[in-house]
Order: sequence, then C-alpha cells, then structure tokens
Amino acid sequence: MSHIDPDVAALVAMGEPVATAAERAHLAECAVCTAEVASLARTVSVGRSAVGDAALLTPPPRVWDAISSELGFDETPATPAPPHAVRRGSRPRRRLVLALAGAVAAVAIVAGVWTTANLLTPRPDIVSEATLDGFPAWQGAEGEAVLEKVDGHRRVLVTLDASIPAEGYREVWLIASDGSALVSLGVLDGTTGAFAVPDDVDLSKFTLVDISQEETGGDPGHSGDSIVRGELTPA
Ligand SMILES: [Zn+2]
Repeated sequence: MSHIDPDVAALVAMGEPVATAAERAHLAECAVCTAEVASLARTVSVGRSAVGDAALLTPPPRVWDAISSELGFDETPATPAPPHAVRRGSRPRRRLVLALAGAVAAVAIVAGVWTTANLLTPRPDIVSEATLDGFPAWQGAEGEAVLEKVDGHRRVLVTLDASIPAEGYREVWLIASDGSALVSLGVLDGTTGAFAVPDDVDLSKFTLVDISQEETGGDPGHSGDSIVRGELTPA
C-alpha cells in the first residue's frame, strides 16, 4: 500500500483508534509514516499541555524587544551593568518570558486545532448552482440547488421554500436536460437537504434539479407533480 492517509496520521497522532490493520502494519514498517505521526503527536502534546515551555520555541530577540518596549522595560542595559542591576531586571523579564511562552502555546493550540479541523473537513468546491422556479400548481414556491464536490464526490444541496401539504412527501431528482431520463436523489425531509450524487451519473447530461410532491405508498417513479425545477449552471 502507499503511505497512510494524512487524515488518518493526524487522528493516530491524537490517539484515536482509527487505523485499520493494514495501516497499523504499514506504520510498524514505514519510517516515513512513523516519523510523520511522531511529529504530529509532538505538536498535539505541546498544544494539549500548554505548560511544556521546554518544547516551545524561544522567541527571537526582536519579539522580546518589541514586548519590553511596549511594556516600558526599556531599562534593559545595552552595556554591561553592575551585577545588582542585572538581578533587578531578571525577575520581570522571567515573568514576561513565561507569559510569552504561554502566548506561544496558545498560538500552537489554535494552529493545531485549525490544521486538524482542515485536515478532517475537506472544503467543498461549488461546481454549479440552480434557481428552482415554482410550477403553476405551486404558486409562490421557489428554491435553490448547489452542486458541490467534496473529497472527490459530488453532492447536491437543496432548499425549498413552499407551502407544502401535510400528506405525502417531497422527493429530489436529477433530470436529463432533454427529459429522457431521471435519477432519484432521495426524500427531502423539511426545507433543506444534502444528497450524494452517485459517481456514475453524468452531470453533463443530468442538468435539471427537480423537487416533486409524492404520494405515500404510491408509484416509486416521479409522480409528475413537480413543485420546483431549475437548471444547474456553472458557478
Ligand atoms: Zn508510509
């Protein structure tokens, strides 16, 4: 197998038991993946402990200079000073270094959480959008559809704004632009929903999004009673 997935490595580093047997076997043998997990685990533990200043980077001198001048500690001697002057200055400086270490730890936690969140939730790319217009029998009905790609798969997000009857249910469809074929994406429960588009559906052909009113226990096909419909166009 190839190296383990970065998402899995991040979770393993956080101590989550997510690795498959094959991934664990790979980890046991692969120095590259082991080093990656170890490095991520160090970041996680620095973020979690927030006290281990030994593991934290020492800020460069200009950071200290900026903080000390901001807080009025400008008396830091530029030339060798008598021993007592150094002693006097050392206490506030130590406090400040500890405060700074805390700030660096906080940044490490935020950066760690941000990185982890981004690893775990791939950002969707919006591919196309449709404004869904109401059919004459459904005066005032309207909606929207967004086709997005997330993690290599496509899904349609729909919203429906219509006064819908208590009986029956609403079903979301993709319809070929020439009306020759249709694919059911699923039942819309409420006013919004997200529907996975099967990977084998050719979206250059199925460009219409349709929401229909269906009868409970009725024919599994489209009832012919469309509430709204619209054409997906590139976003
Ligand atoms: Zn590997």
